[in-house]
Amino acid sequence: MRYNLHTHTFRCRHAQGSDREYVEAAIKAGMKVLGFTDHCPQFFPTDYYSTFRMFPEDAADYAESVRALAKEYRDDIQILLGFETEYYPEIFGELLRLVRQLGCDYLIMGQHFIENEYDRPSFYGSSPSRDDIDRYIMQTLEGLRTDAFSYIAHPDIISYSPGDRDFYRMRMEYFCTALKEMDIPVEYNLLGMRNRKWYPNPVFWEAAAAVGCPTVIGYDAHSPEALRNEELYAQGVRELEGYGITPVDFSQITIRKP
Ligand SMILES: [Zn+2]
Ligand SMILES: [Zn+2]
Repeated sequence: MRYNLHTHTFRCRHAQGSDREYVEAAIKAGMKVLGFTDHCPQFFPTDYYSTFRMFPEDAADYAESVRALAKEYRDDIQILLGFETEYYPEIFGELLRLVRQLGCDYLIMGQHFIENEYDRPSFYGSSPSRDDIDRYIMQTLEGLRTDAFSYIAHPDIISYSPGDRDFYRMRMEYFCTALKEMDIPVEYNLLGMRNRKWYPNPVFWEAAAAVGCPTVIGYDAHSPEALRNEELYAQGVRELEGYGITPVDFSQITIRKP
């Protein structure tokens, strides 16, 4: 059964199309479940400006729109209301208050920064230090232990510096083991694959395969057309097959209400 639990909307200001176009594209692609997970607002304590997420004042419109579409299309597809968010320990309480108030169905973790973003704004994806890798692992696991998240998007968004391959592999095996114990699926990210980013990272996926992590394919759709890219999906399935991994069915994912 085809599904996608990683979908953005125009509200994050780097995705295109109307909410309805995403729903219709998903139906045409034969999906039975579509989860919207736009980049969640964050409540930074300073005037720091985060460029890639919706503002708090966009959230109500987002929730209303997704709920209205869920009702309208309920005979064709199940639509869930979610958010993609980082776990920022200082401000996670406020985020939870917002998503609960909206009656959000689920959260996926997409940890684009460590610390709380405003206090550690440099992006660490390309050549992180060993400390950054450990910090990423500790912070994501701490967030996942809150039981507010249903899966981890691009878990391999943290990469490694030249010469640190063995260290990275060892730490990722530890990370994957912890994720599996918590029943948190790991996401094979089709957007990263399509844009030839540093993820999906083969070293991570060798570790995930060795541990036997439940794996989800996530479109990370930033346009309705992305949901209809059959070739891309097939490539994701093929690449996972290469690691000996079969993606899980939707029914095997524990959807946790935050
Ligand atoms: Zn995005
Ligand atoms: Zn995303």
